[in-house]
Amino acid sequence: MTSTSAPLLTVKNLVKHYGGQPTLLDTLTKRKPVQIQALNSVSFDIRKGETLGLIGESGCGKSTLGRTILRLHEPTSGEINFQGTDITALDTTQMKAMRQHLQIVFQDPYASLNPRRTIAEIVGLSLQIHGLVKTKSEMRDKVVEIIESVGLKAAHLDRYAHQFSGGQRQRIGIARALILNPQFVVCDEPVSALDVSIQAQIIQLLNEMKKQRDLTYLFISHDISVIGYLSDRVAVMYLGEIVEMGDTESVLSNPRHPYTKSLLSAVPDIDNPERKQRIRLSGDLPSPLNPPSGCKFHTRCPFAMPVCSKIAPQSVNVAPNHQTACHLEDKNLVSAA
Ligand code: SF4
Repeated sequence: MTSTSAPLLTVKNLVKHYGGQPTLLDTLTKRKPVQIQALNSVSFDIRKGETLGLIGESGCGKSTLGRTILRLHEPTSGEINFQGTDITALDTTQMKAMRQHLQIVFQDPYASLNPRRTIAEIVGLSLQIHGLVKTKSEMRDKVVEIIESVGLKAAHLDRYAHQFSGGQRQRIGIARALILNPQFVVCDEPVSALDVSIQAQIIQLLNEMKKQRDLTYLFISHDISVIGYLSDRVAVMYLGEIVEMGDTESVLSNPRHPYTKSLLSAVPDIDNPERKQRIRLSGDLPSPLNPPSGCKFHTRCPFAMPVCSKIAPQSVNVAPNHQTACHLEDKNLVSAA
């Protein structure tokens, strides 16, 4: 993947807050309405054919970002540009047509498959919704084709989700996402609910599908080794913000943000187990109900300076195709301190 490919998807200043509207109880008790700041001014682009890996702790906003850019959750503000169209401006009918190109593979394949429908019905449903088949036999033919391409058999079509293993169910989830021939797929922790022995098979399948179908992925995971294996570029997320982003090799071999360094330090180094120094973070991820001021990482950062709690750092280039948002990279600030 070259850095000169055109962006397929551009996200600009995307914000997603939940709540914030006063309830009756808020009004009666004169309480401030609760607001969860899930995403704060997130900007990035994904080039056609690449895999952008999105990494961060549970609760940092990764899945919210994946769902918001597909408008499964409505954004609070910001732009989501897909091939020149701002999809935040589309009405329901236009968005339905757009969904053909934008699909998602969910984390928990069991929870996302309707237990009362057969696999043929689950996988074929979107063909019906989009009016892409005229007859039942045409639909079945297309379902057989996609089911076989993900490693299942036509004989499986009339079974129900509970009759499959976890890995098989995720293959069904992938078939459902790909049957409309999308261009862009959000893979939302697609292997984290699976046994380790099955994870590699599903990762391999996603890789093969990407090559065969010229797909572009946003691959969400909390596992940095999976992200490192699959991604052309990596974005590191902390409390609803991207704190570091760049080419995978650059970010993983030369991380610049203290949070990225701490994530990488937790990965065991099999060659040098003695030499690896773990950066342990104090405390838990702060609540998005009341995020810290300035740099949101300052409550846990081992390198925090007085300025960090007051001023939010801006993203700066630290290497070709590699940016981070940390005051330690602001040469003027560090020399003045
Ligand atoms: Fe740590 Fe300050 Fe950098 Fe934030 S801006 S990561 S608190 S050094």
